Amino acid sequence: ETVLELKGVAKTYLRGLPGEVRVLSDLDLTVARGEVVALVAPSGAGKSTLLHIAGLLDTADTGTVAIGGKVMTGLSDRARTAARRQDVGFIYQFHHLLPEFSAEENIVLPQLANGVARAAADARARDLLARVGVGHRADHRPAELSGGEQQRVAFCRALANRPKLLLADEPTGNLDPGTAEQVFDALMELVRETGLSALIATHNMELAERMDRVVRLEAGHLA
Ligand code: ADP
Ligand code: ADP
Repeated sequence: ETVLELKGVAKTYLRGLPGEVRVLSDLDLTVARGEVVALVAPSGAGKSTLLHIAGLLDTADTGTVAIGGKVMTGLSDRARTAARRQDVGFIYQFHHLLPEFSAEENIVLPQLANGVARAAADARARDLLARVGVGHRADHRPAELSGGEQQRVAFCRALANRPKLLLADEPTGNLDPGTAEQVFDALMELVRETGLSALIATHNMELAERMDRVVRLEAGHLA
C-alpha cells in the first residue's frame, strides 16, 4: 500500500522570467505504509520544495501527488489545506511551538482545531509526551525546555492528529550530535509504534542509514 506517490513532478520558480530556477523535473517517489525514507540532498537541491509539494503546502507545475491513494492534484486551495491538516504532519529543524502555551497545550490545540474533545485531546497529548520521554515536562513552556525536549514536543504535535504521512526537514539538525541521536531514536520509536510513513530529510548519513531506504536528490531527480 502506497501512502505517498509523486509522479512526474516538476517545479520551476520564476517560470518564464530571466532568473527562472528549475528545481525539480520529472521526479517520481513513493513511500509505502510504515516505510521511513531518508531524503539526502546538497543544500539548494530542492529538498524543501519537494517536502512542501509532498505535504500539499505548495503545488507542482506538472505531475501528480497522491496521499493515501487519493490524488491531490488540482484541488482548490481550501480542499488542499483541509487534506494537509488531516493527512500530513510536519517537523522542522526549529520546533515552532507556541511560546505562551505549555508542551501539553501545544499538542492539545491542533486536536481541538480538528474537532477532538478536550478530554481526549489531553489524554492523547500526555500519552505522546510520555512515549517520547518528556511526560514530566507536560506543564512547561517551550522556553523552559532543552533543545532536545522542544523537538520531542514538536514530534508529538506533528502526530497529534494521527496523520498518514510525516514529513520532516532536518528534524535534529539544530541539536548537538549526541542529543540528535537520542532525539532521533525517540522519533523513530514513535513512528514505528504508530506504523506511520515518513520522509525525513537529513544531512546526517549515519541517521539516514538507519532508515528503511535512502533517496538522493540530484539535479532535480532522485538518484
Ligand atoms: P533546499 O531545501 O534543498 O536547500 P529549496 O527547495 O529551498 O532547496 O530551493 C531549491 C532552489 O530553488 C534554490 O536554488 C532556491 O534558491 C530556489 N528557490 C526556492 N524557493 C524559491 C522561490 N520562492 N523563488 C525563487 N527561487 C526559489
Ligand atoms: P493550523 O491548523 O494551525 O492553521 P496549518 O494548516 O496552517 O495549521 O498548518 C499545518 C501544518 O503545515 C503545520 O504543521 C505547519 O507547521 C505547516 N505549515 C503551514 N504553513 C506553512 C508554510 N508556509 N511553510 C511551512 N510549513 C507550513
